Amino acid sequence: MGKTNITINKTTVSRLGEVDFDSIQFGREFSDHMFMADYADGEWKNFEILPFQDLKFNPAFNSLHYGQSVFEGMKAHAGQDGEIVLFRPLDNFARLNRSCARLCMPAIDPEIMLEGLSQLVNIDKEWIPKKADGSLYIRPFIFATDQYIGVAASETYKMIIFTCPVNKYYDKAVKVKVEDVYSRASPGGVGFAKASGNYAASLLPAQIAAKEGYDQLIWTDSSEHKFIEESGTMNLMVIMDGVIITPPAGETILGGITRDSVLQIAKDLGYKVEERALTVDEIIESHEAGELTDMFGTGTAVTITHISGFGRKGVDYMLPPVSERTISLKLKEDLEAIKRGILDEKHNWVVKV
Ligand SMILES: *Cc1c(COP(=O)(O)O)cnc(C)c1O
Repeated sequence: MGKTNITINKTTVSRLGEVDFDSIQFGREFSDHMFMADYADGEWKNFEILPFQDLKFNPAFNSLHYGQSVFEGMKAHAGQDGEIVLFRPLDNFARLNRSCARLCMPAIDPEIMLEGLSQLVNIDKEWIPKKADGSLYIRPFIFATDQYIGVAASETYKMIIFTCPVNKYYDKAVKVKVEDVYSRASPGGVGFAKASGNYAASLLPAQIAAKEGYDQLIWTDSSEHKFIEESGTMNLMVIMDGVIITPPAGETILGGITRDSVLQIAKDLGYKVEERALTVDEIIESHEAGELTDMFGTGTAVTITHISGFGRKGVDYMLPPVSERTISLKLKEDLEAIKRGILDEKHNWVVKV
């Protein structure tokens, strides 16, 4: 085992028997254990795996008031030979540290995170659903714990990783609304970070869209609402005239690990890929010319989710049935197979623990 000293306190009563794996709701079931650490006096310490449980907190915790809180989302799958397969975990921990840096929070050693996570998923491996679409969703997060309501960077933090058995996120293709009033991110802001507050800010526009009959939003640039950015917690890709196009990740578009992986798999398969700015008008023109054959979101929770159609200013534009979307179906199949350790890959994405 690794050099890090991780204390392990296992539960004496597993809750595994209480779970109905056929009807798990996303994010509402929690495995038996969690991995936790504290930051104080300028260092991370008290690494511990312990039973999943409630925490005590002080009402003045400054994460509650000013939002110094960041998170990650990743998955573990059951491999072919009983091993547990993680997908690009060090990329998630690198992104966690980029999020931390933007919010004045302390970085945490990715190797310690991987060590703790590996032990955690091994202890709770019975929680990984056996069904084809099942996986263990992993939620690492860090939040400020100073008991001080001045607006200042906290000097103490807590890191936790807990896990949730999950099945598929969306059952069907989703219909999205091109947002042209609200914004998710702006240049110089925190859009590239998985900062908790970003998601609070997205709730109202998403609720308005839901009332209008849409499942999700497509965010556009904050100054003109002209350029496509991303959708909910998914990056967005379109296929126009046979070319896979996605806007560049950067300040206002979160650099999804699924996005990066899908682009790489597409290149490996010989598809034409472009990362470039993409306007809503261009997509509509392509739709009218009959060249827009596909639109889909990519993300850890949703994998590849097809978009059935999009609405802008009250007009809906529908896309071909999912069964005809051969390119993205192939990308999804390969991605899923790689994540389960079934399909070999040459990028060292898969970590077996
Ligand atoms: C997490 C997230 C994504 C997807 O990132 P993955 O690494 O692929 O899971 C995309 N957009 C936003 C806003 C996100 O929070």
